[in-house]
Amino acid sequence: MGIFNDDFLNDSSLKNPEQDDSIALESSNDSFPASRTGSIVFSARGLVKKYNGLMALSGTDITIEKGDIYGLVGANGSGKTTLLRVIAGLISIDEGQFELFGESNTSGNIAKERRRIGGVIESPHLYLGLTAKGNLIAQCLNKGLDTSRVDDLLRLVGLDSEIDSVKKVRFFSLGMAQRLGIALALLGNPEFIILDEPMNGLDPLGIIDIRNIILDLNSKGVTFLISSHILSELSKVATKYGFVRSGKIFKEVSADEIDTDNIEDYYLRITGRGGKENA
Ligand code: ATP
Repeated sequence: MGIFNDDFLNDSSLKNPEQDDSIALESSNDSFPASRTGSIVFSARGLVKKYNGLMALSGTDITIEKGDIYGLVGANGSGKTTLLRVIAGLISIDEGQFELFGESNTSGNIAKERRRIGGVIESPHLYLGLTAKGNLIAQCLNKGLDTSRVDDLLRLVGLDSEIDSVKKVRFFSLGMAQRLGIALALLGNPEFIILDEPMNGLDPLGIIDIRNIILDLNSKGVTFLISSHILSELSKVATKYGFVRSGKIFKEVSADEIDTDNIEDYYLRITGRGGKENA
């Protein structure tokens, strides 16, 4: 996962969903539990995404409830980012169905619901020639938001030093860019935040800061979907897990159901790689 890959990086920024009207579906699969009651933020059945015949998603089911911090765990190439991109509307699906805030993927209103999402997928979407503050202001202008929270957001993610700085993002370290990406994701007070490897590149204080931001926002009702390979860190925040293999969530469990202190052993066990007997 690179941070800088172009002058205009490809975050989701979730602002230009490529396929908001995506997805014609034939699946007559199960109904979506409780989504009409408002307790389900995102629910999907049988999602399939193919890239030139390769099944990046091969029939994924997932249910994310309001207030969840949903941890998505799986090997490299198992399909996590593909799933995040589908949810954000950055790519279309080939089969399956989903609902976002109770709105079906076939509905014309899905783009409106996507405005309730914030996030960073793959790389933060940064203008390298602008400062951190410049990036936040630019994003506010793009999204029609007022700029009054910009300094507060920089403080929140530990970029206080950048409030009056002239340093361009081009010269940021990986962790600084990651922090800025999180600040961008928080613009507009999203109700559902998607983070792809948010701890990547962060120093120890950065990890603690981001963890606390996630927990604080969650306590205020924000739902999270977080993809992470760092199980020990994920287990400090996640309330639910989806374990991904070969483009499918093969196990979905709540944190209460497992011994999160030994999550690595649990993961080894469910992936057939052994682990402690009591894990
Ligand atoms: P990682 O943990 O390494 O980030 P991941 O679980 O996020 O991996 P994905 O990025 O979703 O995995 O990729 C799933 C599969 O789809 C991989 O085989 C990948 O090579 C393939 N893939 C992803 N994007 C594309 C694309 N744009 N074109 C072709 N194949 C792709």
